[in-house]
Amino acid sequence: MKRKGTIFLIVIMIFGIALAGCTTDEPAIPTDDPSGVETPDEEGSEDNRISVVATLFPQYDFARIIGGEYVEVRYLLPTGTEAHSYEPTPQDMVALLSADVFLYTGELMEPWTVNIVSNLEDEDVMIVDLSQDISLLTLEENDHGDEDDEHDDEEELYDPHYWTDPNMAIIMVNRITESLMGIDPENRDEYQENGDKLKADLEELDDDIREALAKTKSKTILSGGHFAFGYFARQYGLEHMSPYTGFSPNAEPAPQRITALINSINETGAMAIFHEELIDPKVAEVIVEETGVKMLLLHGAHNISKEELDSGKTYIEIMYDNLENLKEGLGYEE
Ligand SMILES: [Zn+2]
Repeated sequence: MKRKGTIFLIVIMIFGIALAGCTTDEPAIPTDDPSGVETPDEEGSEDNRISVVATLFPQYDFARIIGGEYVEVRYLLPTGTEAHSYEPTPQDMVALLSADVFLYTGELMEPWTVNIVSNLEDEDVMIVDLSQDISLLTLEENDHGDEDDEHDDEEELYDPHYWTDPNMAIIMVNRITESLMGIDPENRDEYQENGDKLKADLEELDDDIREALAKTKSKTILSGGHFAFGYFARQYGLEHMSPYTGFSPNAEPAPQRITALINSINETGAMAIFHEELIDPKVAEVIVEETGVKMLLLHGAHNISKEELDSGKTYIEIMYDNLENLKEGLGYEE
């Protein structure tokens, strides 16, 4: 929808050249518009839809549902990749600077946003930090591991994974709906209606999860990956164990925590170890080898695979798949 001047393009080109040296391949950016890349300055190519750029999958999914036909949502993450190590490419910057709305998870999940927010403000992009309405969990509130673990990094102290709790997802939906209504008041009724429907579905999801998890034998999620379900666990009265001390999969897992997980399985007769999406489940595999338990996916919905995106997978579907695996792994009893 937006048109940009030539100075802006020159800035991007310089920025692009500077960035090109540090990037490897250029992944295709998935978008819900098969016609492809936006070229806002080209004559005759103007798209009247509101252009939204979303970082992680949940806000991409919510924005496309709420926006419907009036919004084009560009998904920034290359599908199939680990989300915590994402850095924007020059192409991504072009998309960002020419967007009407930018939806991001927060500085904890996307530290690279710190340096670009002022540029986006200059370009008149509506910047929406979706963590602004969320009270973030700290590591202390979240962690049930070894008390001797050291946490030096300030940024590691807060858990960025709030979207895994459907109640936090509802807060995100409210913010995205308000943002779209603000930038495009003409279609506000449509956004309101789509947002309300999505919230009703999320409330139903919340009820279904609460009801099912009240009937499981075990109340502890044993995870072989970095743990993205702290908010979820708090919401549904679960405990959790993970071999990672922080909130990123890029750190090394702590060996004593892997031992603790194996011991816990042997002592409690736990049936499953959960692994995360899009990451080689090597820790979970070691635990399976040692204990013979089942390995089940607990999809954190940071990002999705190309197949999932192409098949139209939604956040809500991912969470229902998770619920099935949790019922199996924690011993659901009718
Ligand atoms: Zn994560």
